[in-house]
Amino acid sequence: MHTLTNNDFSGRKALIRVDFNVPLDGNFQVTDSTRILAAKESIDYILNQGGSCVLISHLGRPKGKDAALSLSHIVNKVSEILGRSVLFCDDCVGPKANAAAAELNPGEVILMENLRYYPEETAGDVDFALGLSKLGDFYVNDAFGTAHRPHASTTIVAQFFDEDKYFGKLLEKEVKAVQKVMEKGEKPVLAILGGAKVSSKITIIENMLDKIDHLIIGGGMVYTFSKAMGGNIGQSICEDDYTDFALELMDKAKTKNVKIHLPTDVIIANDFSNNANKKTCKVSEIPDDWQGLDAGPETLKAFEQVVMNSKTILWNGPLGVFEFENFATGTIALGEYISKSTAAGAYSLVGGGDSVAAVKQFGLQSKMSYISTGGGAMLESLEGKSLPGIAALLA
Ligand code: AMP
Repeated sequence: MHTLTNNDFSGRKALIRVDFNVPLDGNFQVTDSTRILAAKESIDYILNQGGSCVLISHLGRPKGKDAALSLSHIVNKVSEILGRSVLFCDDCVGPKANAAAAELNPGEVILMENLRYYPEETAGDVDFALGLSKLGDFYVNDAFGTAHRPHASTTIVAQFFDEDKYFGKLLEKEVKAVQKVMEKGEKPVLAILGGAKVSSKITIIENMLDKIDHLIIGGGMVYTFSKAMGGNIGQSICEDDYTDFALELMDKAKTKNVKIHLPTDVIIANDFSNNANKKTCKVSEIPDDWQGLDAGPETLKAFEQVVMNSKTILWNGPLGVFEFENFATGTIALGEYISKSTAAGAYSLVGGGDSVAAVKQFGLQSKMSYISTGGGAMLESLEGKSLPGIAALLA
């Protein structure tokens, strides 16, 4: 793996694929700068060595040159975060972009216009990628959020840099976090999979079974398992097509010595709403008109034990409908158990989807070992897939 560390970039120009696909409000102000902050380490590293940086990114899904999705809106925010004034070029390829990049001095940064103004970007067009490659002396991919896309700037462009292509600091951290869980996890290794649907987690579960000792299943997935085992699930979310899979998984887990932990009690509601009536009941005895929306107290006690006894923890997906304040208790409690276990020496990775949102919402970011910045890319990593953007750097 070529990382930035121990390389001399003085006087050299980096072409850095960053993920500045940030949310903007109605006045084109950045409402969440996490992704810009995440790229700062790589940019600073190169600038501090006396290099310069050409930043390329996409923003949204423009159809043609949509001014609302111009990266010019975020130049001030990037300048503020980097603590230096950032230049902007209103194109990202061709003569104008080449000239702007050529004029860059050591210590300077330029942000190029939205890559997706050109359909060639998502098409993975080779000529377009060749055009992009002209902007820098070496290539850095630090856009983990798009590393699972075979686009021109994330994947194809790498072929024009022979050995001169590098994992940015963020990409390196994300890849190492997954390795730490999937390849080098200190035992006992625990995966906690929650969220709405079994179908969206099947590949992860199958990929993880050889790597983990414990599997906690939570959230809406629980009811497919409960129904498969003959439980009454009332109106709870359930995927009838996956009950056979649930039973097979439990058998497979047994042969692989993986202990599956399912809730024994749940908080049920008489409606899918925050203001519904609620009560606690056994997971297998949900009355006909009720539905399970959160983990129950007995379940949480048992899950706490498992989390506290684990040395490596992956968390993907909430334990309940945490968007409803009245059904967020289980997800908050789980976040706190993982925080405690992390403080006691466990390695914790939160990644792929709504558990990241939950951790942020409940202010537990600093208490986890690593929180992934890439939803889809992290999911595909956990599924064991090779990400094209990463494969291109290794080729
Ligand atoms: P995912 O994107 O797969 O992590 O799923 C997250 C979604 O699952 C969140 O929006 C939760 O509200 C939802 N969810 C969690 N538990 C339940 C449940 N018991 N019933 C319905 N939806 C749930």
